[in-house]
Amino acid sequence: MRLSRYFLPIIKETPSEAQIVSHRLMLRAGMIRQASAGIYSWLPLGCKVLRKIEAIVHDEQQAAGAIPVLMPTIQSADLWRQSGRYDDYGPEMLRINDRHDREMLYGPTNEEQITEIAAAGIRSYRDLPKTLYHIQWKFRDEVRPRFGVMRGREFLMKDAYSFDIDKAGATASYNRMFVSYLRTFERMGLKAIPMKADSGPIGGDMTHEFLILAETGESAVFLDRTIADLSFGDREIDWDDAAALQGIVDQWTNGYARTDETHDETTFHAEVPEDRRVTARGIEVGHIFYFGSKYSEPLNAKVMNPDGETVALESGSYGIGVSRLAGAIIEASHDDNGIIWPEAVAPFEVAVINLKQGDAEADAACEDLYSKLTARGFDVLYDDRDERAGSKFATCDLIGVPWKLVVGPRGLKNGVVELASRRTGEKEELAPDDAMNRLADRFGRA
Ligand code: ATP
Ligand code: MG
Repeated sequence: MRLSRYFLPIIKETPSEAQIVSHRLMLRAGMIRQASAGIYSWLPLGCKVLRKIEAIVHDEQQAAGAIPVLMPTIQSADLWRQSGRYDDYGPEMLRINDRHDREMLYGPTNEEQITEIAAAGIRSYRDLPKTLYHIQWKFRDEVRPRFGVMRGREFLMKDAYSFDIDKAGATASYNRMFVSYLRTFERMGLKAIPMKADSGPIGGDMTHEFLILAETGESAVFLDRTIADLSFGDREIDWDDAAALQGIVDQWTNGYARTDETHDETTFHAEVPEDRRVTARGIEVGHIFYFGSKYSEPLNAKVMNPDGETVALESGSYGIGVSRLAGAIIEASHDDNGIIWPEAVAPFEVAVINLKQGDAEADAACEDLYSKLTARGFDVLYDDRDERAGSKFATCDLIGVPWKLVVGPRGLKNGVVELASRRTGEKEELAPDDAMNRLADRFGRA
């Protein structure tokens, strides 16, 4: 993309309405624009980040065996009456009447909708297990929408739903999602820690929230430091090996990690030595939940088991806050100059900065880098504007491009350009081809 042709409405002043750094930076970098309270338009830069986050989520969901679907945003009130949630949900639900005065609602979640689909399409235990998911907009009329996209009213969620014949199957499905979440967040450059969540009337241990640590997080968190030090890495994973999956889940859940909702000070002190106790704040980016037959019973999603008995499907639901993640990643990765995108979700991976636009040699070198990098599959931003170098650097740092290739007449005389890292600030002078090869190695695009 040539910056001269892009739409990047950057804001110089610090927006006064934004209380936290990610909201400020998203506004300043021209990623989002508020449409009304808790409702945002995603401008080109924000839209690009959102798509990259979605792509990772799709990839990891499908790697774990989940099947993509797309359910509507508008649902019928009748369906929610069957589960009993229409009245329970309260004022967070946006209720709508159509022209025939039929009661509809803008979905805050999709358990009812997917269970109706499962009831109609799953006939026998032989059709199981199945996990279906979509990435779709939700609406919750939050009392206090705030922090930009972190607590919006309209927000993008990945929600998956598993269907199994029995509890053992449901546990395996739960564990697949658990492990898939470890991989998903790690790919985004995040350390998301699974914490024991409140299972409410369902009971049991199978519900976890995934939180990233950040001072501005809405939840207080209490954990054993050793869990924060775990990483999944690139270990091989057999998604059909239930025992191996359980082993991974155990590794992450054996130690203490809870939010204020489930925290118990006595247990915390008994289980975790003082030097390993961490008390911090966290942002919930995902939530997985086993709820058995809570929806399949009332919605009549029942099938035949191997013994010929008719049983209600065993289910769980698995959410990821896709749009919240855009803000959460910024909370976890920024400095005084702006955003520092992890490479996997960066809207642009490398910026070509022309220090002297209009200089024949500099222009030619930049054009060459721009077209070659693009051909090699990079997302390149070419700052071809007739602006001062300082202003180009400031823009590039604000919007968080991980790598800069700085091109100027003086360097070119010596046959070099400068490759600079946004994260470390390290700079290196290299021949243009070597700089491109360095990036290709780093991104695995050699
Ligand atoms: P919270 O406790 O933050 O209100 P929740 O527990 O109600 O969230 P879930 O129903 O578990 O949310 O939804 C799944 C995921 O969707 C959450 O983990 C979170 O990342 C995201 N999410 C929930 N509410 C919002 C919102 N208002 N704005 C943006 N993302 C949200
Ligand atoms: Mg939750």
